[in-house]
Amino acid sequence: MKNKIIAGNWKMNKTRPEAEALIKELLPLVADSVNTVIICVPYTDLHTAVQLTKGTNVHVGAQNCHWKESGAFTGEIAPSMLKEMGVEYVIIGHSERRTYFGETDATVLARTQAALQAGLKPIVCIGETLAERQSGRMQQVLTRQVVEGFKDITAQQLANIIVAYEPVWAIGTGVTATDEQANEAIAFVRGVFAQKYGKVAADALYIQYGGSMNDQNAAGLLAMSDVDGGLIGGASLVAAKFAAIVHAHG
Ligand code: PEP
Repeated sequence: MKNKIIAGNWKMNKTRPEAEALIKELLPLVADSVNTVIICVPYTDLHTAVQLTKGTNVHVGAQNCHWKESGAFTGEIAPSMLKEMGVEYVIIGHSERRTYFGETDATVLARTQAALQAGLKPIVCIGETLAERQSGRMQQVLTRQVVEGFKDITAQQLANIIVAYEPVWAIGTGVTATDEQANEAIAFVRGVFAQKYGKVAADALYIQYGGSMNDQNAAGLLAMSDVDGGLIGGASLVAAKFAAIVHAHG
């Protein structure tokens, strides 16, 4: 059994003083965890997070990065800028970015490549909408997202990527996939990766579940054989709840 990777996605929440307070509360609560702990914070909190987590077991991630190294891209942040700050991870292709900011499988791939090039570890998000699930297209959508979104990714690169399966209908809605639904979808996704990269690489790949995971349902979800961790939004904003998820398994 792999240890789990538990990542918090703070989304657009927490000013610098609020971030400082949350991180200071969180650090002692998760200090003895056997699982990998990551907090993905807004750009403006990255410096605070990197400084406060130095020498601890908590890793810092951003929530997006651009695919170019520099240039006329007002409002964007280059992967190398994140790396230079001490950031280790970056979420790519979150469903909120796909829905509100026109993210596509092609831009997900471009951002992932750029992040890897800079030495960051991407957390690449995939997942179907409710309409896609209800019309029986879940597997088709997940296959497309993996095939297109990982088109040029080599097996060597895959070893530095985390995948987050996040059914869009479960994100921020309070509706969680059942343990079985999460496991079934992740096992399916792993099978798609296995077709391209082989079983050994697909088994080694970390695939998290995300979507209204909280301190009440985390133990069940994380106990499932294919669920390698969680990407947690709302519940990651409360130190005690996030810590409970971190400790829910292992
Ligand atoms: C997320 O932001 O990736 C997420 C899963 O959010 P929530 O846990 O709030 O559903």
